[in-house]
Amino acid sequence: MAPLVRIAFAAQQTLTRCVGSLLSLFFGACLFWSIRGETAVVWDLLMLGSLVLSLAIRAVRRLRVLSPTGASRLDAEICTHLVVLVLAGILYSPGGLDGQYYPALYALVIVVAGFARPLAAAATVVYAIGLEASIAHSGLGREVESLIPHAALVVVFSSLNLLAFRAEITRVRRLSRTRLQGEIDRMKEAARSYRLIGAPSSAIDAVAGGPASHAGGGDEERLLRSSVEEIHLTLEHTLDLLRRSLGLRSAVLMWLDSAGRHLHIREISTESKQIDPGPFSAAEGIFAAALSNRRAVSMSGDKAGRHVPYYGSPREVSYVRALPLLEHNAPRGLLVADRKEAEPLTDDEMALFESVSRYIMRTIENERIFVQLERSKVEQGKLYRAVNLLADATSEVEVIEAGVSSAREFTAFDFAVVTLFDRSQSRHEICAASGEGTEELIGRTFRHNSGLVAMAVANQHPLPYRGHYDSARQTVFSKGLRPPPLPGLLVIPMVVQNNVLGTLVLGSEQRDAFGESVRPILEVLASHIAVSLSNARMVKRLENLATTDGMTGLLNKRSLTDLAEAKIRAAVRFGRPLSVLVCDIDHFKKVNDTYGHDVGDVVIKGFADVLKRTKRDTDLVARFGGEEFVFVCEETESDGAVLLAERIRTELEATTFHSAGGAIKVTCSVGCATFPLAGSDWASMFKATDEALYVSKRTGRNRVSCWSPSVRGAA
Ligand code: GH3
Ligand code: MG
Ligand code: MG
Repeated sequence: MAPLVRIAFAAQQTLTRCVGSLLSLFFGACLFWSIRGETAVVWDLLMLGSLVLSLAIRAVRRLRVLSPTGASRLDAEICTHLVVLVLAGILYSPGGLDGQYYPALYALVIVVAGFARPLAAAATVVYAIGLEASIAHSGLGREVESLIPHAALVVVFSSLNLLAFRAEITRVRRLSRTRLQGEIDRMKEAARSYRLIGAPSSAIDAVAGGPASHAGGGDEERLLRSSVEEIHLTLEHTLDLLRRSLGLRSAVLMWLDSAGRHLHIREISTESKQIDPGPFSAAEGIFAAALSNRRAVSMSGDKAGRHVPYYGSPREVSYVRALPLLEHNAPRGLLVADRKEAEPLTDDEMALFESVSRYIMRTIENERIFVQLERSKVEQGKLYRAVNLLADATSEVEVIEAGVSSAREFTAFDFAVVTLFDRSQSRHEICAASGEGTEELIGRTFRHNSGLVAMAVANQHPLPYRGHYDSARQTVFSKGLRPPPLPGLLVIPMVVQNNVLGTLVLGSEQRDAFGESVRPILEVLASHIAVSLSNARMVKRLENLATTDGMTGLLNKRSLTDLAEAKIRAAVRFGRPLSVLVCDIDHFKKVNDTYGHDVGDVVIKGFADVLKRTKRDTDLVARFGGEEFVFVCEETESDGAVLLAERIRTELEATTFHSAGGAIKVTCSVGCATFPLAGSDWASMFKATDEALYVSKRTGRNRVSCWSPSVRGAA
């Protein structure tokens, strides 16, 4: 049934996709018949109306469509519809194909080549040439050769237009991409110079939108952009006020580059039309003097102009004052004021100048704090989501998956592995791995050695230092078991209550991916993973306790009853056979009485081992209490059940148990019952097996009995 439905569905989809193209062909054919005079005027008008309606519907759909293939198909449909419409107009106007309106077709082709998708444009050109040729040749009886110039012109027009238009689009796109990148670079440069971001790190890569960019990169970019803009507006306004109040030609804020060799103009308020943007040497003139002495330096007179490099001509100023801007006593830049007149600043003006410099530094510092606060707010949000995700994970596998996907929120990585440490065996196991070429690592184990994973577990500290990994010198797992040789790597121990459960290992193509900015938050995440992992283990232990028998490890009565009920329901629904067996050790009280309870326990465990060995994968086995065990075997007829029961019986008979009091041998009796003969629900099936067991016991023990209606009477 399913393949038929699939074929019908595919056929319907194909038909839906082709309707527009078929309509174009149909309207073309209508035009053809109409030109040959084979149709009535009413029909022609009706077709014209339908063509316009179909065109309108497609145009509306085209405005809404998002997928490129859908857009291309609709473009082709609309353009071929238009070809029919335009050709109809040309053919019915005076002169027909040779009339003055024929260039309308060229115009259409130009528009199509310019605006439709390339494939759609090509289809339209082919369709236009084909339709025109068939109408001219078969409809109007023209020679084929006479059609070639028209067709050639259409092709030339469309291809030239297509080429020119696409080239222009590519050029404009490239231009705007370069502009955008320049804009981002400038913003980054400003953010870095104001120390809104630290040394090149994942945050910057995220802003750059490089391969390392991760979730939150957009937030970070917005945050930095708004802070840089805020600083710019405040400083621009401040410098403007300063220039006007002190009657300056220019008030300039210059910033040192990271090497401290050059000064860049960050903000300027000036009367001058021509300003050289720099950079300027920080080792010359009064700039060098102010920076090295960490004190303001002024100069007036003719020489002053020569110390102001940002004007084209040194004659523009006769007074200049440069004030170093200090941060933790280290110069970061200069505030420069210059005047056309040689008149120095008064004491009041000097005080104002200094207070402006302090205000500038405070503005930058405030934004820095704001960015840090915002960033930690974003991180807290991510952490909150991660913790929720981890809290929802109930199994070890789910926790590990949630942990790795949460780590992706905080940093970009190309490789992730989770190792678990088995303290009793002193071994590590790689239980999850993601990234290229890491599949073969899953499930591998290695000794507690001197590798980074083992050391991180032993010291409860992330390794290696700075997250820089040298695959030639450092071992991560063991000598024979290596991660891909990535330059950035971090092994973070997963610690809960001073107990290390394992490690989270992240690797990156970027050497600085795991710098100071992300390490603390990854450590917090790792400890959350550890908590969730130990919770998942506890849940698993509780589940085991609730569903299994502590002494034998087999299912307990309650869980077997639940599972058996489901299996019987399935057997009833699908009409499949199913058998239930009850095995009980014979004269077990004697074993207890003779050898003691402890030895009795050993015998029970030994019997459970026999059952585990005998059971098939699909069988359920449970200890029902004491020395009574139950089997539920799906897809098993009465004969199969007896065979299994006999195997259990003979196997136990052949087993010798050893105790201080000597060797012990026991036997067991088994009762079997099979669906549907013995019943079609758990209660009646179990009652039947019990009755069959009773028959085995009553008729001499160490035997197998199957339930039949006669057994019920006997019991
Ligand atoms: P029968 O052949 O009729 O089955 O005789 P039986 O002595 O085996 O009788 P029954 O199955 O009724 O006896 C079960 C005995 O198993 C009773 C109890 O003392 C003992 N028993 C129940 N649970 C445990 C246990 O966990 N450990 C030990 N050692 N003995 C148990
Ligand atoms: Mg017994
Ligand atoms: Mg018993």
